Amino acid sequence: MADDELKKLYAQQSLIATQIKEKKREQAKEAGRIVDSLADLVCGKHPDAIFRVIGTIPESFIFSREIGGLNLYRCEPCGEDKDIFDKSAAYDCPNCEIVVGKFNKRHYRSSAESWENLAGREGEHYYCRECDAQLGSFYWKLS
Ligand SMILES: [Zn+2]
Ligand SMILES: [Zn+2]
Repeated sequence: MADDELKKLYAQQSLIATQIKEKKREQAKEAGRIVDSLADLVCGKHPDAIFRVIGTIPESFIFSREIGGLNLYRCEPCGEDKDIFDKSAAYDCPNCEIVVGKFNKRHYRSSAESWENLAGREGEHYYCRECDAQLGSFYWKLS
C-alpha cells in the first residue's frame, strides 16, 4: 500500500478512537457514572449530604494536571457512620473529571532485569474504572 494511503487510514483510525472516547464519556455522564463537579455527587443513602475530600490517590501527583494530586471523595455521613460498610466514594480522573465509585487496582511487579538492576518494584497500580488511565501507584517492595 502506498504511504499516503496508510497515512490516511491512520488518521481515520485516530479520529475514530477520539470519537469512541468522547461517546463513552458522554454515555458515562448520562448514566451518572461521571460528574462535572463535587456538587453533582449524590449518595444513595444520604441524598442531601455533601461530599468532601478525604485524601488523595497515592503517588497521583505524577498523573494529575493539578498540583497536589487526584482527590478522593466521600459523603460526610457515610464517613461518620461506622456501621455502613459500603460507603459512598468518588475520585478525580485527569480525563473524566469526577468518577463515581472506586478506582481499579492491579498488582504490579517489575521485570527480573529491573530487580537485578536495583530498579525493581512490587505493589499496586491504580486505574480509572471508566477510561483506564493510570491514576497512581503504591509499592511495598523495592530492590
Ligand atoms: Zn452517604
Ligand atoms: Zn477516567
